[in-house]
Amino acid sequence: MKITDHITHANGKTLFSFELLPPVKGRGIEQIYKAIDPLMEFKPPFIDVTYHREDYIYKQHPNGLLEQVAYRKRPGTVAICAAIMNRYKVDAVPHLICGGFTKEETENALIDLQFLGIDNVLVLRGDARKADGAFIPTPGGHSYACELLDQVVNMNKGKYLNDELDAATTDFCIGVAGYPEKHFEAPNLALDFKYLKKKVEMGADFIVTQMFFDNKKYCDFVKLCRENDIHVPIIPGLKPITSSKQLINLPKIFHIDIPEELSDAILACKDEKQVKEVGIEWLINQCKELIEFGAPVLHFYTMGNPEPTKRIAEAVF
Ligand SMILES: Cc1cc2nc3c(=O)[nH]c(=O)nc-3n(C[C@H](O)[C@H](O)[C@H](O)COP(=O)(O)OP(=O)(O)OC[C@H]3O[C@@H](n4cnc5c(N)ncnc54)[C@H](O)[C@@H]3O)c2cc1C
Repeated sequence: MKITDHITHANGKTLFSFELLPPVKGRGIEQIYKAIDPLMEFKPPFIDVTYHREDYIYKQHPNGLLEQVAYRKRPGTVAICAAIMNRYKVDAVPHLICGGFTKEETENALIDLQFLGIDNVLVLRGDARKADGAFIPTPGGHSYACELLDQVVNMNKGKYLNDELDAATTDFCIGVAGYPEKHFEAPNLALDFKYLKKKVEMGADFIVTQMFFDNKKYCDFVKLCRENDIHVPIIPGLKPITSSKQLINLPKIFHIDIPEELSDAILACKDEKQVKEVGIEWLINQCKELIEFGAPVLHFYTMGNPEPTKRIAEAVF
């Protein structure tokens, strides 16, 4: 079922959902089930699975020379989605990225998703490979999420890359990313917002936000969207802080701010156990406010660790 339909059927009740990463190559599917099982009691109508582009690793040869090799650390997004749908009977939402795919490969991937009965996709540009520093598109692929979005919208109209006779239409419900605190490459929030609006005008059905720790940022973002004729659901992405090193890592990786009150509380903690408690408590309060505000779904970035999310969900649902 489409995410937009799940939201409509909820009749204003805030839903619970979460995101998982495929396990590191070589690990089994049990790791995924262990990350999902404790959260099923909160009845997620959908579960997202991230997609990870290949990166480069260096292999040393006996003669000492280093060879740069392309390596995908976390493959398996589509297969994990199929396994989730089969085992839990909930919708799985694969993330689909520009990087690493030609348009042809994207088309084939979308056909696979349709055959698997997947109704929703989150379309993204994708992160840059670490070795590249900045995002480099794949030759023959897309440079921005809006181009990938356009391809999915076209397939929903039966338009494939090459004219196919009697082409079947797909019917994907399409999500895109939104950044209440601005995407880090955008020169300002206003320009970033224009590109977000473009994605919605081109056919995006819902927005999932980057994590934030200050609800005002989300509420202002929703207000800005509504004032600018963006009426699709805006799903807040949420992550509890679970260790003190995240005070540095989260802003560094995700380009978000941590409110002073939260950083002060974390710095005042005696040990890591206390930090986790502070992080969970902060998110519980955030969630309660977001429900009050009317957020359609609370979407948790679990990073494969269900326990903090379970405690938060127990407190708010
Ligand atoms: C909810 C969520 C889930 C994510 N999941 C994944 C994942 O599974 N895998 C992964 O690799 N990454 C993931 N990411 C990270 C995401 O891929 C990065 O943040 C990426 O840098 C931007 O992706 P985007 O889809 O927002 O890109 P875009 O919408 O393409 O925007 C990228 C930048 O380009 C600008 N821009 C947009 N359109 C244009 C245009 N037409 N011309 C010029 N500039 C433009 C924007 O302002 C922005 O600065 C996720 C992010 C979020 C918020």
